[in-house]
Amino acid sequence: MADTRPRRTFAVISHPDAGKSTLTEALALHARVITEAGAVHGKGDRRATVSDWMAMEKARGISITSAALQFTYRDHVVNLVDTPGHSDFSEDTYRVLSAVDSAVMLVDAGKGLEPQTLKLFQVCALRGIPVITVINKWDRPGLSPLGLLDEIERQIKLRPTPLTWPVGEAGDFRGVLDRRTGEFIKYTRTAGGATIAPERRMPAAEVDAADAEVWAEAVEGHELLTLDDADHDQKRFLAGESTPVMFASALQNFGVAQLLDLLLELAPGPSATAGVDGSVRDVDDDFSAFIFKVQSGMNNAHRDRLAYARVVSGQFERGMVLTHAATGRPFATKYAQSVFGRDTASVDHASPGDIIGFVNAQALRVGDTVYDGAPIEYPPVPSFAPEHFRSATAGDIGRYKQFRRGIEQLDQEGVVQVLRSDLRGDQSPVLAAVGPLQFEVVEERMKNEFNSPIKFSRLDYQVARRTDADGATALKGKRGVEVLQRTDGTHLALFVDQWRANVTARDNPEILLEALPAGGS
Ligand code: GDP
Repeated sequence: MADTRPRRTFAVISHPDAGKSTLTEALALHARVITEAGAVHGKGDRRATVSDWMAMEKARGISITSAALQFTYRDHVVNLVDTPGHSDFSEDTYRVLSAVDSAVMLVDAGKGLEPQTLKLFQVCALRGIPVITVINKWDRPGLSPLGLLDEIERQIKLRPTPLTWPVGEAGDFRGVLDRRTGEFIKYTRTAGGATIAPERRMPAAEVDAADAEVWAEAVEGHELLTLDDADHDQKRFLAGESTPVMFASALQNFGVAQLLDLLLELAPGPSATAGVDGSVRDVDDDFSAFIFKVQSGMNNAHRDRLAYARVVSGQFERGMVLTHAATGRPFATKYAQSVFGRDTASVDHASPGDIIGFVNAQALRVGDTVYDGAPIEYPPVPSFAPEHFRSATAGDIGRYKQFRRGIEQLDQEGVVQVLRSDLRGDQSPVLAAVGPLQFEVVEERMKNEFNSPIKFSRLDYQVARRTDADGATALKGKRGVEVLQRTDGTHLALFVDQWRANVTARDNPEILLEALPAGGS
């Protein structure tokens, strides 16, 4: 019973407070939600689907977990993969972007591009993920549309190509001009955006006299954009050279249907994917998927472990026996019940682009491939440049065994990167993270799950560069740098600051000192 409806799998990247939760809810309102996987971060008395899997999440009122919200819209199945919304970075935030085919960059009209948006955008750029830009909160005063376009072009080096152009400035929002049809999409204010789509489409000739003046300005703006080569070009969009832009108010439900339509029309669906050996898996080939996230400790009562997989090719049928590429061993999906998020509703079928969760799949790690038929192994999910470092020791020497086991487990799950050296020994590995929140997760889980409280000491390093065994020898004894080895074998040179890293690289051109992807601020 293959579900052959086309898929769109995307994530929303934004800075906290830009309106991601509001937009997610509005999208869900417009679409028919199939499954909901703790993806919507409830705020206040809105949704009660907060991912409260960990006590810490509850305490902080944030979601540390990532899952997917699946819905249908106009005969398409849309998978919205959640990126954690808190301001601290974690590697998870980056990794989920390996599971999507496109991203929606949500920008607060009053604030413009903010730091977290930029960082996430860089990951999209690195992975060649096309980005649609939504300027949100247009119902209230904000920056000028041209100013916002300028900022986008300057900061992310993508050509912004507006698909709609605001009629009336931010705060006096009358609607938008649909630049592809020339129609006016009129905005009607409703109380709290409680109803679907306060939008009405009309040809230019039907624009009210009351709106005539701002409409004329919008038409002029639109014509200038065309002269300035700022029209949408699908090829350039897919090549990551331009970003279509639209103006919206998620809170007032304006632009939400437009965004869904754009995703269906412009955003790419799942496509053929190459394995590490260069062989290519087409979407209709045998089943294959890769793990982009592993989550544990969702339920204190029994230790569970959920591995999230993005389906790359073929049809998933629950019960099929797959091969785990890393070990070559069979992986029985019959026992590993498949679920979405924390809802244990089992998933019987899944198609390319969908996200499935395997419960208690102890063998699966981030980046692993599972497949049916001919062997395939997808490239590893990249690990990002850590910027925060702590040395860790067992808080209770008597529980050293538990300490080791816990560190090993958290390392495997990719909660933090674990670095070791002969000098430091196994008793005090160095933990490296993209965001400090990752250490809190380690602390919490070591205490509650592995019964071995952990003690951290802060290390003064800020920058990691990749080196090799020769580099490790050459850097020994140099000032302001220490070389450790990650579990995957990579040598990382940790520097006290960027300046020291640059000077060392300049003075020792023979030493490999390569910058790691993203993370760098
Ligand atoms: P998140 O942190 O990105 O998930 O942001 P939220 O969705 O929680 O929104 C942050 C705040 O901005 C909330 O108070 C929202 O009500 C408000 N907000 C979101 N979208 C809009 C919008 O389009 N217009 C206005 N005026 N406020 C908005």
